[in-house]
Amino acid sequence: MAITVKVIKPPKLTLLERLYIPEILRGMFITLKHLIRYRPITIQYPEEVKELPPRYRGLHILPADDEGKIRCIACKLCEVACPTQAISIVAMAADEYAVERSPSIYNIDFMRCVFCGFCVEACPCDALRMGMKHELSSYNRAGLVHTKEVFFDPNVKSDAPRNNANFLYSHSIGDVLDTPEDIASLESESEY
Ligand code: SF4
Ligand code: SF4
Repeated sequence: MAITVKVIKPPKLTLLERLYIPEILRGMFITLKHLIRYRPITIQYPEEVKELPPRYRGLHILPADDEGKIRCIACKLCEVACPTQAISIVAMAADEYAVERSPSIYNIDFMRCVFCGFCVEACPCDALRMGMKHELSSYNRAGLVHTKEVFFDPNVKSDAPRNNANFLYSHSIGDVLDTPEDIASLESESEY
């Protein structure tokens, strides 16, 4: 394959530019203008906290259901979607209506997490969100592995359907229904 060579010619200077001194004066004038019109663009963190954009992807939170409990149904879709394998979930049987499982352990390893948000996208029932917190420090590695007790936030509520999310997902059925009658009729129609 032939190699293409692109020749870039230096720009032609005007007489004033070639005299050199006027360009130095022009540069000094621009510097002086910024000194007079000084507007700080830095903030005195941590005393001042910058307002973050609403779609900021900070540390994760687990929203609560109407009863103030964790909404997660331990389906592990977030764990599978995570490209850095930062999430580890251990499920246990849940005895709530139409909810098969809940997490006994739900950890996120923030030494691995790249805050891509794939886990949140994968969640079928709005049980995981990216929060606004960004301060993350620890004196040891263990402190960067957050458990569900750390990032469960009972003040954040979600009314997204949750009870039958596992069932609908396993049946590849799009519409989310929410009453026991709806689920019973769907089960009777299906072969499962
Ligand atoms: S934000 Fe990305 S890297 Fe972090 S836990 Fe979620 S999927 Fe994994
Ligand atoms: S995808 Fe959502 S419901 Fe499923 S385990 Fe993750 S947080 Fe829980």
